[in-house]
Amino acid sequence: MSTSTTLVWFRQDLRLADNPALDAALTSKHIIPVYILPPEGSDESRDGFLRGGASRWWLHHSLTTLDRDLRARGSRLTTHRGKPDEVLARLAAETGAAAVHWNRRLEPAGIATDRAVKQSLREQGLTAQSFAGNYLHEPWNVLNKQGSPYKVFTPYWKALLAEGIDLPVLPEPEKLPGVDEAIEGETINSLGLLPQLDWAEGFADWWTPGEAGAWDRFESFVDDISHYHETRNRLDLDGTSRLSPHLHFGEISPRQIVARVRSEYPDALDKKGPEHFLREVGWREFGANLLYHFPQTETDNLDARFDRLPWRNDPDHIAAWQHGQTGIPVVDAAMRALWATGWMHNRARMIVASFLTKNCLVDWRLGADWFMDTLVDADLPSNTAGWQWVAGTGADAAPYFRIFNPVLQGEKFDPDGTFIRRWVPELADLPDKALFAPWEAKPENLHQAGVTLGKTYPRPIIDLKTSREVALGAFQQIKEYQR
Ligand code: FAD
Repeated sequence: MSTSTTLVWFRQDLRLADNPALDAALTSKHIIPVYILPPEGSDESRDGFLRGGASRWWLHHSLTTLDRDLRARGSRLTTHRGKPDEVLARLAAETGAAAVHWNRRLEPAGIATDRAVKQSLREQGLTAQSFAGNYLHEPWNVLNKQGSPYKVFTPYWKALLAEGIDLPVLPEPEKLPGVDEAIEGETINSLGLLPQLDWAEGFADWWTPGEAGAWDRFESFVDDISHYHETRNRLDLDGTSRLSPHLHFGEISPRQIVARVRSEYPDALDKKGPEHFLREVGWREFGANLLYHFPQTETDNLDARFDRLPWRNDPDHIAAWQHGQTGIPVVDAAMRALWATGWMHNRARMIVASFLTKNCLVDWRLGADWFMDTLVDADLPSNTAGWQWVAGTGADAAPYFRIFNPVLQGEKFDPDGTFIRRWVPELADLPDKALFAPWEAKPENLHQAGVTLGKTYPRPIIDLKTSREVALGAFQQIKEYQR
């Protein structure tokens, strides 16, 4: 069997540098880069990778950029639609390829797809080889002394550091063999990833999907990384890297991130800013670790005792939350920013998730679904872990009595109200002291700022104090039930 042609199947690794599947194919005479859009509603399309409209927008642009980068090196991306095992087998037959390479995905649906594809290709006599490309370490390699998975972050992070996070980074190929024009497929446009109604119109002002865009963003962030521990919680500052969508689509790898931080700060783990940043990259690994070892948590509470929580799921509350019309300024600012940019600051994610699950008693799964649809970085492991953490139903969870007070959070993390004024412009003229809780403002302040509650801006959909007490009662009951 000739190994002169290898298909490289791209999924969540849309980069040329540090790409183990591509690197291992470089000994082949011919390399055919392949992207396959699975059929709507199939098992392969059900996972977080392709679930949401915002992710699909990103994917369209990232594939376009990958194709451009491949062409600059003499190759091109072939794009297809269909069941991956069938498409890969057909392409192998058409091109005489003997091997298929890809980088592993670790979400439940991604694992199922990988297994099925591997088995099917091997049954047809093809070499099917998968590689580790998306995380620093794969979850089965980071276990405690008893051989069990970690459920708490700090010991997990220590174990990850003990495994070593300074890992070799593979070079980017300078040239690639050409791809026969006769290979038929779809065009990236015909995959239909862009929304019909251009609600994502504004995203392009915020993002440059693709490998070069990831590096531009990362390089400008590295310049400020020494302040990360001080600025990362501020809603009004550009204090975080915003690398999450680039990482999700594999346009940059965590190995590259660690190596670049280390090149600037060899003592990164002893320096507050860089250490804190690398630790956050560790949270991404931790989320993948949790979902890999506890795949049921995609839909089930990690802590099953919380199955008894009396969620209310009031449709009016859910709609107001989704549309940034709750009457709580910091929540509305965050939800509107999400809609406009496809991204939300981590602190804001915690505030809006706490408001939805605790004040409104809406099931975390409904909030997580909305995030999966609207975030450009929608990532099943991180999203699931984030929601379960805030709701108090997950690993290493926020204690049930921790209910974020969105007024105090706004005052603390958006001290001048810049973030609120930007996204809730109808409140822009309120004085600072009235901005975070306009329902408590003096009538003359509202009047002077042109704000009429219930008319130009909603009254709060829920009373923060009483809803907090109700939630505490509901969570307390569960706690007592456990005894
Ligand atoms: P930085 O602060 O610059 O951190 C660097 C990288 O570390 C991030 O790009 C990200 O990959 C990783 N990271 C940082 N914080 C976390 C975290 N808490 N958990 C896991 N990884 C982290 N992140 C997603 O990538 N996709 C999601 O769908 C997602 N959903 C979330 C839902 C909720 C309710 C919460 C509380 C958090 C969620 N997060 C999610 C985690 C976090 O909010 C984002 O990763 C972060 O805000 C991305 O911004 P950044 O790239 O500027 O992060």
